Amino acid sequence: MRRSAAIIAVLIMLLTVSSCANSEKTAEFFAMDTYMSVKAYGGGDAVDEAEALVFELERKLSITDGLSEISAVNEAGSAQVSQETAELVASALGLCELSGGALDISVYPVTRAWGFTAGEYRVPQEAELEKLLRLVDYTKVKVSGDTVSLGEGMLIDLGAVAKGYAGDRVTELLRSHGVKSAIINLGGNVQCLGRKPDGSRWKIGVQDPAGSGYVGVIEAEDEAVITSGGYERFFVEDGKTYWHIIDPSDGRPADSGLISVTVVGKSGLACDGLSTALFVMGKEKAAGLWRENGGFEAAFVTENGDIIITEGLSGRFTTSGGRKVSEVIRRDEN
Ligand code: ADP
Ligand code: MG
Repeated sequence: MRRSAAIIAVLIMLLTVSSCANSEKTAEFFAMDTYMSVKAYGGGDAVDEAEALVFELERKLSITDGLSEISAVNEAGSAQVSQETAELVASALGLCELSGGALDISVYPVTRAWGFTAGEYRVPQEAELEKLLRLVDYTKVKVSGDTVSLGEGMLIDLGAVAKGYAGDRVTELLRSHGVKSAIINLGGNVQCLGRKPDGSRWKIGVQDPAGSGYVGVIEAEDEAVITSGGYERFFVEDGKTYWHIIDPSDGRPADSGLISVTVVGKSGLACDGLSTALFVMGKEKAAGLWRENGGFEAAFVTENGDIIITEGLSGRFTTSGGRKVSEVIRRDEN
């Protein structure tokens, strides 16, 4: 009698443990100016910790929070920051260099003049842009130990990489709680941990930049899938659309022929920085950067509606709604 009761107790315990391991928990919140969700299978309260972590990162990195570490750097031109922020600025500078300045974290005086920070949109005069562009030069941003310093009058903004970095940190945190399967959506920046609980790969939709719905679906596993699109933040004046991704070479919204770039790879930080950079560079230069560096794959949508993918996405990118891939960029140029 006592023995069977003990067996039943053990069985109940085992069932509880296994259902906990697979139980799904989601946190949904608004941070970094966008809707976010973290869905994890197992890991108990890990998603709540993940939410807290994203808010903590926002407090450090936000340019609209006057008390953030980045604001301290911008106000004084030089400030001591946490080791984490110093390392993130250094990594971002590495991506600025890799992209030949298509990504430039010091483009902030220009994006601010267009009103993209405050949401008070305006088209700056040519002379104003010329003056502000003199302040844009990421090579004058220095990281020395925990101190970040800028050239005279310069301002930095990590907006192009912060969500990707946050995705990396959240993934790391969930993994440290034993989570084997999770999907993190930080405002269209998707990061997945492992595979779906049923063992299949995650299917991540690539939004149609010219309408609603998806242009296609990418299958992913333990990867970030990050899109930069002209549709994400823009305004229309006199029939012309102006979006929030700025070409640091002329201070105007990037006009490279692309309307969205999705980058797939292991590092959310790198994918985020690269999606912005490749959007500015345009297809040809982007293909060159991909051939020379690798370590990531990309899908482009052009203003003509063409869908172009790098060859590593062949077989795991499925177009939707009767669309077709127009071109596959190959490592070997012919
Ligand atoms: P989103 O944040 O909408 O997903 P991105 O990752 O492409 O899009 O980042 C765009 C943000 O990065 C802009 O809101 C602006 O703050 C900043 N930004 C715009 N152009 C550049 C650029 N060329 N280099 C670095 N940062 C940029
Ligand atoms: Mg980006």
